[in-house]
Order: sequence, then C-alpha cells, then structure tokens
Amino acid sequence: MSDPFFELMVDGRTLAQRYRLYYKICRECGARNSPAADKCRKCKSKNLRWKKRTLGIKK
Ligand SMILES: [Zn+2]
Repeated sequence: MSDPFFELMVDGRTLAQRYRLYYKICRECGARNSPAADKCRKCKSKNLRWKKRTLGIKK
C-alpha cells in the first residue's frame, strides 16, 4: 500500500509544516519573530521566547 515516493513527499511537507508551527515572541514588545531570529526585529531585544502555534483545528 505504501508508495516510497509518496511518503517522501508527505514527509517533506510535514517537516515544512512543523517548522512553521514555531516562532519566537518578544517578551518586551510582543512582536512575532522568525524561528531563526536571534533578537527582536522591532526593539532588538534578545528576550525572546518560543511560541508553539496550534494548528487551526476548528471545533
Ligand atoms: Zn521586541
């Protein structure tokens, strides 16, 4: 039932989606920064925290 090529595509997609699930939030000004950000793009603060974005599952 499993197609190796299909699984590869699905896996790459999930990886990309997983990466987009996380971003950094500045504790100083609350700005959202990219996961690769070292400091806030707004106030240059290094006081960043990881934020996990929950998938938009509507109930
Ligand atoms: Zn900031």
